[in-house]
Amino acid sequence: MLSTLQHNVCDKVREEGGDGDHTIWATSLCSDEVTNSFHYFTQQMAGPGPFILGGITGLPFAGVTGMKAFLSHVPTGGKAMIVYGPHIGVTQEGELGKVRRKNRDGHSTCCGSITAAVDSIRVHASGVQDDPLDYQQSRVIEHLNAHREDILAADRPVKVATDRAFEAIEQKLERILDKALPDFPGIQVFLVGGIEINTDWDQEDYFDLRTYRWIES
Ligand SMILES: [Zn+2]
Repeated sequence: MLSTLQHNVCDKVREEGGDGDHTIWATSLCSDEVTNSFHYFTQQMAGPGPFILGGITGLPFAGVTGMKAFLSHVPTGGKAMIVYGPHIGVTQEGELGKVRRKNRDGHSTCCGSITAAVDSIRVHASGVQDDPLDYQQSRVIEHLNAHREDILAADRPVKVATDRAFEAIEQKLERILDKALPDFPGIQVFLVGGIEINTDWDQEDYFDLRTYRWIES
């Protein structure tokens, strides 16, 4: 459950000599408001909230420039943390890819970006044209289209697409950090990666933790 994860992460940061006043955090999570269930960290870390590296699906669209900006904000002698990954809803009936939102009848897609990308690659075998008004989704489709056969052959295509999206987010973040981190010697970054599992709006969400490690330039 998220509250357990959040307590454990804060303990881990303290183990490494970090403290909330000298640690800032960033996210590479989907733009969907349901991913704000990590807000607990805002009370535990420096800064008024997270630096937002992600866009739809959670891909780190802020890129190298955004990462360097984030790292340049680390308090003197302090540390950084990045929470990242895609998200997927699950209904009370166990249906994946949908969630019940507050004061909204029925279910809506979750993650809407991944679900739309799966629908798109089902129809367009060669991907889609870049649309400057929808360029983030073009990138999401590009990443998932590379795994088109696996995704479309699966019993639950959205689940497989979410796994592939996690890999894409993590690989991109690692490449961005490889470029950005050498400019900030001595700064340790705690990576917390996984898949956020969203439940009904009045229930606590979950996090399928996949990466939990410190890196340093
Ligand atoms: Zn989403």
